[in-house]
Amino acid sequence: MKHRIPAAAASLLMLMTAGCGKKQEPPDTLHSADIFAMDTYMSLKAYGAGGEAAVSEAQERIAALEQTLSVTDPQSDLWAVNHAGGAAVNVSQDTACILDMAEQVSAESGGALCISLYPVLQAWGFTTGSYQVPSGEKLSALLPLADDSRIARNGTELRIPDEMQLDLGALAKGYTSDSVIGIMQAHGVSSAIVSLGGNVQALGKKPDGSLWRVGITDPRQPEVNLGVVEIENKAVITSGNYERYFTDDAGNRYWHILDPADGRPADNGLISVTVIGESGLRCDALSTALYVEGIEKAQEHWRRCNDFEMILVTDTGRLLVTEGIADHFTNGSNLSAEVLKREET
Ligand code: ADP
Ligand code: MG
Repeated sequence: MKHRIPAAAASLLMLMTAGCGKKQEPPDTLHSADIFAMDTYMSLKAYGAGGEAAVSEAQERIAALEQTLSVTDPQSDLWAVNHAGGAAVNVSQDTACILDMAEQVSAESGGALCISLYPVLQAWGFTTGSYQVPSGEKLSALLPLADDSRIARNGTELRIPDEMQLDLGALAKGYTSDSVIGIMQAHGVSSAIVSLGGNVQALGKKPDGSLWRVGITDPRQPEVNLGVVEIENKAVITSGNYERYFTDDAGNRYWHILDPADGRPADNGLISVTVIGESGLRCDALSTALYVEGIEKAQEHWRRCNDFEMILVTDTGRLLVTEGIADHFTNGSNLSAEVLKREET
């Protein structure tokens, strides 16, 4: 008697084979993409089954977020808000999530994070690359426009005064790396790492079971690493005065992180702040806020919270590492690392 496989069983067999085929992909198989988006180089790496689809979906998501969050794209939420002439505008859930975090970190930092500095950033030329030092009068005229308390929002409905303009550049990449890691997880990936212009976020551990090793840039010589942090399921996000800056004829440096107190490059004792924590969005918001807060207030801010660690470099060459990350930080620089303790002694 001939054995015939019933059609239903045959398709089940095919499904199982297809399933097995997928599972058989070695867990250290690398799926990657290197792209340029949001004005920066990005690298996405996912290992094992599901990685290929995850990397492809992540690229689409990045392109979509770039369009939603850009200040210069007329299709973006921010363009709509900034050009609404004072009328209410409906924004996406993505934008609303970022605004939630901006509000929270602005409150925590006493207004150091200020998403309504865009007109001031424009005056310095940071939005176009046509750099100039604005006059004191110009800054005094623009500063009253930088006031996040005048943003009226109810969920996704947003209204700002006519002359005000918002910019989410301090948080956008962190939100994007959270989204990308979420996509990796949704595809069943358990080992992945993404770098969005040097801001890194890792999922799980390396395929060989060891921790991810992330280099921290030395702000005094950005081509060299200050050291390495070892992480699992964390974001490592840095704000520094070396990322975007210009120099005047006298050799003074002006950088893109502004102090809302005077509209000038924040100069409160820090030249680099790295924040390590679970949420890319929160770490990104914090890296900018802590940079502006400066050496003393950044430490107080860290002591009030228990959901992030930080590595600070001061303008006098001190390297401060908080105790929760100190054991996972290897100092590769000529500075001696001081460990910050939660309880002040
Ligand atoms: P990067 O984008 O270089 O990684 P940040 O996360 O620190 O660095 O973001 C800097 C960007 O945030 C600036 O380019 C500007 O768009 C915006 N920005 C500058 N100063 C502030 C501030 N005090 N609060 C909020 N956003 C700021
Ligand atoms: Mg930031």
